[in-house]
Amino acid sequence: MDFEWTPEQDDLRAHARKVATDAVERYGRHNDSWINGFSKDFAKEMAALGWIGMTWPTEHGGGGRPPIDRLIVGEELISAGAPIAAMWFADRQMGPTLINFGTADQQEEFLPGILSGDTTWCIGMSEPDSGSDLASLTTSAERDGNDFVINGQKIWTSFGESADYCYLICRTDSSGPPHTGISEVIVPMDSPGIEVRPITDMTTNRHFCEVWFSDVRVPVANLVGVEGNAFKQTMRQLEHERGGIDRLVSNRALYEMAAARADANDPRVRQEMAAIEIEYRLGRVLVAREVLGQAPSGFSAATKCFCTEHEVRVAEFVAATLGAEATLWTDVTKGLAYAPGYTIMGGTSNIMRNILGERVLGLPREPR
Ligand SMILES: Cc1cc2nc3c(=O)[nH]c(=O)nc-3n(C[C@H](O)[C@H](O)[C@H](O)COP(=O)(O)OP(=O)(O)OC[C@H]3O[C@@H](n4cnc5c(N)ncnc54)[C@H](O)[C@@H]3O)c2cc1C
Repeated sequence: MDFEWTPEQDDLRAHARKVATDAVERYGRHNDSWINGFSKDFAKEMAALGWIGMTWPTEHGGGGRPPIDRLIVGEELISAGAPIAAMWFADRQMGPTLINFGTADQQEEFLPGILSGDTTWCIGMSEPDSGSDLASLTTSAERDGNDFVINGQKIWTSFGESADYCYLICRTDSSGPPHTGISEVIVPMDSPGIEVRPITDMTTNRHFCEVWFSDVRVPVANLVGVEGNAFKQTMRQLEHERGGIDRLVSNRALYEMAAARADANDPRVRQEMAAIEIEYRLGRVLVAREVLGQAPSGFSAATKCFCTEHEVRVAEFVAATLGAEATLWTDVTKGLAYAPGYTIMGGTSNIMRNILGERVLGLPREPR
């Protein structure tokens, strides 16, 4: 097995590192920059470089490049803290979903805006009483002529306030078992009847929102995939969401800052740094397997669990190394306060372990 990068991949990494350094100088460094570093201007710069949709098929306007190229670019940009949040969700999830499940009209209407960095998308999945158990969601979309009429509430909707479109997971039929009757619908965020209330989290970030839908009308043509049969489609999307490099390097910059200040003469510190470096390398291998399509189905749950628990360990190392000094830097304090989110967003570690046990290892399900 050859773990060496090709000269072209080394060149791409060097280019991405330079772009990232330059972006950090101009836009500031962001912890967890794929969710907290929001800049439309930088999204357009990414588009100009061909770094949005870089792995999408060329017939859909993408770059047709190998997935490992996206891993390299993503790793450099996120590790440095460059602000990619305005385009990341759409590049990672909505574009591939529309390519896989969307109609030709939807692809024509929505993909160009994603590729140009002009449109930002949010994901309307979680509800106040429906997080881990997605099948319990109640936000409804009822047919009325050529429209769906949407009612309900979403929460924790990142970029709800700034997004142009919401990729909404909703219930179009409640007569069957919970995981049936679920559909995915594209909702323009300027539709009448949408109310967005940002939530300020304890780090003072405001990407989270509560979103209310009151008789919001959306054309039936905005249904993605088969009506009432989106559960599997959503699970596949979550696989895209879980196995990527964004789950490993969100606080890499903080780690490097703390590592430079750590007392490497202390054997306990050396041991912890060695453990973190080993985990980081193992995490990269797991992510590489995901993006190369070499991981078994459902295994992104293990990748997400391992990588985000690594990010929590990094945050603990940074806190232990800097001690009270951490409070001298607002962005360090914010980065540390954000750490509990790693193992929650995109599905909690408990849920990842359930998926791993039940779907990958085939262990018996606990009777309900
Ligand atoms: C930074 C961040 C960004 C997010 N962005 C978005 C977004 O853009 N769009 C969106 O829709 N959502 C978003 N979320 C929400 C996220 O998807 C949910 O928080 C997550 O799915 C957990 O749901 P919950 O918060 O309702 O917790 P719950 O599901 O209520 O879980 C509470 C606790 O119970 C445990 N638990 C629940 N069920 C089981 C079980 N069956 N077995 C074992 N343990 C269980 C969980 O592990 C957890 O510890 C975001 C969350 C974070 C932290």
